[in-house]
Amino acid sequence: MNRSDGLNALLADLANKSDLELIDRTDEKVRFSKDFYDYSPVLANQLNCCLADLVVRPRTISAVMDVAGACRRNGVPLTLRASGTGNYGQCVPLNGGVVMLMGDLRKITKYDSSTGLVTAEPGCLLRDLEKALALHGRELRLMPSTWRSASIGGFFAGGSGGIGSVRWGFLRDPGHLHGLEIVTLDDPPKKLNLDEISSEALNHAYGTNGIITSITFATTYLTSWQEITVDCKEWDQAVALMKCFTRSSVDIRLCTLLEREIADKILHKGWDLKGQHRLLALVAPDGISTFKRLADDAGATFSHLGQEDERIGTGLRELTWNHTTLHMRAVDSSWTYLQMLLPEPEIPVMEALKCKWGDNLLFHLEAVRQQGAQRIAALPLVRWNGLSELQDLMNDCKKLGAIMFNPHVITVEDGGLGVVDGDQVEAKKRFDSKGLLNPGKLRGWK
Ligand SMILES: Cc1cc2nc3c(=O)[nH]c(=O)nc-3n(C[C@H](O)[C@H](O)[C@H](O)COP(=O)(O)OP(=O)(O)OC[C@H]3O[C@@H](n4cnc5c(N)ncnc54)[C@H](O)[C@@H]3O)c2cc1C
Repeated sequence: MNRSDGLNALLADLANKSDLELIDRTDEKVRFSKDFYDYSPVLANQLNCCLADLVVRPRTISAVMDVAGACRRNGVPLTLRASGTGNYGQCVPLNGGVVMLMGDLRKITKYDSSTGLVTAEPGCLLRDLEKALALHGRELRLMPSTWRSASIGGFFAGGSGGIGSVRWGFLRDPGHLHGLEIVTLDDPPKKLNLDEISSEALNHAYGTNGIITSITFATTYLTSWQEITVDCKEWDQAVALMKCFTRSSVDIRLCTLLEREIADKILHKGWDLKGQHRLLALVAPDGISTFKRLADDAGATFSHLGQEDERIGTGLRELTWNHTTLHMRAVDSSWTYLQMLLPEPEIPVMEALKCKWGDNLLFHLEAVRQQGAQRIAALPLVRWNGLSELQDLMNDCKKLGAIMFNPHVITVEDGGLGVVDGDQVEAKKRFDSKGLLNPGKLRGWK
């Protein structure tokens, strides 16, 4: 059966289902075949021509099962899409087929007050989760800087960390994900409940090995986060202060450092000091005086901007992680970026890179917890001068000991540590034996 026969049969299978919308308009298919991959000129070149043959929007889990069954019976690829804010083309249908929009499944179904664990449908927005959790005196441990528009399902399946990573590490660290309900691509599809251990194979697997229909995850206690900026004349001084902050006994949710050329271009309330490197932090109320003392001791300029106001979209958290890249690209779209964990000590590595790459490389650092230790991740802005120059730069970073998380590649493995995760592949064998889910994104399957 060729592709169009398969699709016709699938359309016939799915016709007249009241809890499923079929979207066949070309402009909608184009829109739902893209995410934010154009931050990478490499991916833009590769993915611009990818197009879904059909988009579907299920309103119930039973409709999800209908779609899974129809794709399986007719051999049609199925790519899941939540809010479509991924940066690496995670929800771009490489082989066409069906794109399934998961955003209408957005209920919070359970809150356990004795553990703080929450269970929600995958399309639930992180913004809505934050609001609901606050009523219980809780908040999310981790969220991407796209927290207003991104979903919990898309975050666990396609994201890695972000705001909160300075304290809580990354999504794949044990303790965040407690269980999943999934729909398989068996014939007929099954609905399964996975415990904490078996769920891990679907954590950050780009929706290649199961359709998540419910997620149970850990939260933390609610804090009135205070916005703080600290301006430093010297880069070494700023990096040393960043490390001093993250090693103090102050509770922090975010600690970002922007090189002055970046800070000067991203205008913000209360930022009237020009020409200095800027640290941005979210700090618990009892840590403000300590941060001020540490900043004063280092000869830096401390400002307390006040409590975060999440109703406005220009808070400090929306200037960090990949929002830094977003704002810089808004000023000049010839910027792209890299992601890496810097080796210690960080300063000589950054100096060596700066020495060779000059202003084609601007440093943006994020404090993170990596396997229990405080470390510094870099998401530098990189001037796009073609693929071979980008590769040279990545080679230089690797030679200097940085661990790269390449944002210019499409597979789960290549964007991570480069190695195949046998558990992810095994889960695909069990839950998607025909390899129809998001084909091309799990290198280990090939
Ligand atoms: C400006 C900007 C800043 C960002 N900052 C961060 C950041 O700080 N940290 C970070 O980790 N990411 C970041 N991202 C990437 C992205 O926003 C996040 O990872 C986000 O959580 C993705 O959620 P989403 O709902 O948009 O998912 P989508 O992009 O729609 O999907 C992501 C992946 O999940 C899969 N998927 C979706 N639903 C399901 C499901 N129900 N079952 C199985 N698989 C599913 C999709 O197939 C896809 O592979 C950023 C992106 C941008 C553009």
